Amino acid sequence: MIVSFAQRLVRTICPYCQENYNPPEKALVAFGITPSEAKNANFQHGKGCSQCKNTGYKGRTGVFEVLVNDEMIQDMIIKQRPSPEITRAALAAGKLKTLREDAAKKIIQGITTLEEAASAVMV
Ligand SMILES: [Zn+2]
Repeated sequence: MIVSFAQRLVRTICPYCQENYNPPEKALVAFGITPSEAKNANFQHGKGCSQCKNTGYKGRTGVFEVLVNDEMIQDMIIKQRPSPEITRAALAAGKLKTLREDAAKKIIQGITTLEEAASAVMV
């Protein structure tokens, strides 16, 4: 059973003016993107055109936080453990995919930019 905890919308890169770019290393670290992931990544951003009114973005997509709701998690919920504790336990057991992780994946795939994802998931 999978429970979706949270969702954010991010703007997607305009396909008419997207180009490769190298995001600042500091920003990659903030998203937990490792140097080897960065090497194989397809970082894109839109430089702005008439199709996107010079914003570099066209359309939106969702970034999701997903918790796999298995027995261990259910047990913690039943015992009314505080949610930060459940989050920590789920992360440690690899049962939680955070917004940041999902955003990092979409940055690596060139779907959205670091700047856009940062404004949506870094609160
Ligand atoms: Zn464009």
